Amino acid sequence: MPKEARMEHSELIRSLSERYDSFYLYDGARVSARAAHLQQVFAPVEFLYSIKCNPNPHILDTLFARGFGADAASLGEVLMAVEHGLKKDQIYFSAPGKTQRDIDEALPKSVLIADSLGEVGRIDKAAKAQGVCAEIGLRINPNFSFSGEGGHPSKFGIDEDDALALVRANPYENVKVTGIHVHVKSQELDGGVLAAYYGRMIDLARRFVDVCGELSYVNMGSGIGVPFADSDREVDVEALHAAAKAPLDAFRADFPGTRVFIETGRYTTCRSGVYVTKVVDRKVSHGKIYLLLKNTLNGFLRPSVAVMVGKYTDPAAAKSWEPLFTCDGAFRFTPLKEGEATEAVTLAGNLCTGTDLIAEDIHMPQLNVGDLIVIDNAGSYASVLSPMQFASQDKPAELFLSADGSVLVD
Ligand SMILES: *Cc1c(COP(=O)(O)O)cnc(C)c1O
Repeated sequence: MPKEARMEHSELIRSLSERYDSFYLYDGARVSARAAHLQQVFAPVEFLYSIKCNPNPHILDTLFARGFGADAASLGEVLMAVEHGLKKDQIYFSAPGKTQRDIDEALPKSVLIADSLGEVGRIDKAAKAQGVCAEIGLRINPNFSFSGEGGHPSKFGIDEDDALALVRANPYENVKVTGIHVHVKSQELDGGVLAAYYGRMIDLARRFVDVCGELSYVNMGSGIGVPFADSDREVDVEALHAAAKAPLDAFRADFPGTRVFIETGRYTTCRSGVYVTKVVDRKVSHGKIYLLLKNTLNGFLRPSVAVMVGKYTDPAAAKSWEPLFTCDGAFRFTPLKEGEATEAVTLAGNLCTGTDLIAEDIHMPQLNVGDLIVIDNAGSYASVLSPMQFASQDKPAELFLSADGSVLVD
């Protein structure tokens, strides 16, 4: 168990816990630094923030102020990006199964990425009704997988051959395809695999340029992972860029007017957030020590899911199921208390269900009511995935630590 000395912001966390029994704390300076690092290394490649991983308004402001555009997964996220000041050509709405209302309302405000052939037709209809020609992108299900073999059936996107055929035939009067988007995998930590994927993306872009002429943008999607298990390492972003530079530079030289995008949600946010929960009860049952914590399953769901997966499978063999389950040992539970880890305890939440359990028989210093436990990797797919309405408990607060040291509440 990490010693308290390694916990950042521990004084601040302690003082915030006087007001809040459970809360997220997002570190704005770190979000900004991680974003800046990607931008510096990859320039002139541009970045889109995948809002769905954490739509905290201050995180949006931080990233948009740095020049990130928006990867919107719903009409709601399109509207959020508009509200936070982005213009149409900075908002890319890519999601399967858009409704006609999604299309009608998002068309004037964002760049629509069609997810199926049928959707292209529905966008054409909406564009006709609005008296415009919609410049859209196509989400492609490519004839290659992330790791290099052939393509797979997918609920996402349009199969590459069908998309090329559509562009060639161009049957729609009010739709013009000006960009392509692919996203096939999240949470890849192997820089070699990522670089090879970018190379295949550039080849794919060239196949589209051959039939539709120069593109406005090529969106290579996400993929860059973050460490979860103790054995995971950060992707070496410089080395990744160096490995992918040749095809990217050659493409830019041939098509200087085409913007190249990479999307990311977790890279900027996952490790920029912690979840803090308070011990609200302590009991011993048949010799086992239970610490009951405020809002675990219903405040930060994923640690409970990890325990559940471990009950059904060999955790070492369990498949990642992003973004609900990444791997065994994905979260660390750090007590905000000095002392040797002398006790084996079970960490459970204060819901009326036995599944509200985040750790069994882990060693901690002796913790009592009022003591705090900090959980890491809580900046992405954390608050948004948690069933906070369950049992009508009060929700954890979401707090944002600004670069100037002030703490902003939603
Ligand atoms: C969720 C999502 C992302 C973000 O993935 P991360 O692994 O969080 O970077 C990017 N693109 C699309 C299309 C997504 O659905």
